[in-house]
Amino acid sequence: MSYADSNPGSADPFGTPPPRRSRLRRPLTVALAALVPGALLGWLAYGTLGGSGGGGAEGAGPATGAAPSILGSPGDGKDGASGDGGAGAGTSTAAAPGAAPLAGKVVVVDPGHNITNFEHTAEINRQVDIGTNRKECDTTGTSTNSGYAEARFTLDVAHRLRTLLQAQGATVKLTQDGDRPFGPCVDERARIGNAAHADAVVSLHADGAGAGQRGFHVILPASVHAGAADTRAIVGPSKELGKLIAGDFARATGTSPSNYVGDGTGLVTREDLGGLNLSTVPKVFIECGNMRDTKDAALLTSGAWRQDAAEGISEGIVSFLRG
Ligand SMILES: [Zn+2]
Repeated sequence: MSYADSNPGSADPFGTPPPRRSRLRRPLTVALAALVPGALLGWLAYGTLGGSGGGGAEGAGPATGAAPSILGSPGDGKDGASGDGGAGAGTSTAAAPGAAPLAGKVVVVDPGHNITNFEHTAEINRQVDIGTNRKECDTTGTSTNSGYAEARFTLDVAHRLRTLLQAQGATVKLTQDGDRPFGPCVDERARIGNAAHADAVVSLHADGAGAGQRGFHVILPASVHAGAADTRAIVGPSKELGKLIAGDFARATGTSPSNYVGDGTGLVTREDLGGLNLSTVPKVFIECGNMRDTKDAALLTSGAWRQDAAEGISEGIVSFLRG
């Protein structure tokens, strides 16, 4: 995948604190949410997972046939490619004083790739053991056509998600925080979640598929048992976690499940991802959209949309952890 390391057109100064969502946005989101649940239940109940479609979580983009999009696209054009949504003063996501529903829970957030991976090609191309196979340590990730890197997207959403989960009382650990030259490798990313005895892990990504291929999908671990990989105990809870995140992500962002993998369910099971194969705790990946589609890119480059994305993912995790 190509990689661009700078994006002067983006008003998204890396490392700034995530802006709070403005309360002004809430009525729109609520209105959209009211429209969604019926269809959402439909596609969740639709049930069957979309096989092992080739999403771009750790490698090349997929190219499976188009599937019907169950939900509409009420998020189209929302905010446009206007960069960060600004530091609104809303506090709607903060937990009530004293309320800590996730106290004692540990969540590991894995921002996919690394902003400076491209400067360390030898290191990230090193093969690591993923149990079922050997695979590159890490990849550079994709970018939008205008050069907004997936690694910047994932780290930004990770920061927003961390803030939301901490407000619920969770202990949150990031696998990387822009604080290392490359990686971690996919096997280490998995081990970080395992060592933390995480109650849930989410790996954040955005895809690099073809133009016109749109929407999000959540990647679930397949049942694998080979070498150091044994996902048999986490397949069930990870599926539950993934379904909850997919539902809340659709509602919070107003975007539809992928029209190119998952048969409209927004759920895909894969057995080729080291980050899932080596996990011993419930874990999913989410591909939040397709960076190579201009309409999806307009959402992914919007700070306000990324806040919605983080809120959707957070709500799914909270639902999962509260049982
Ligand atoms: Zn990725």
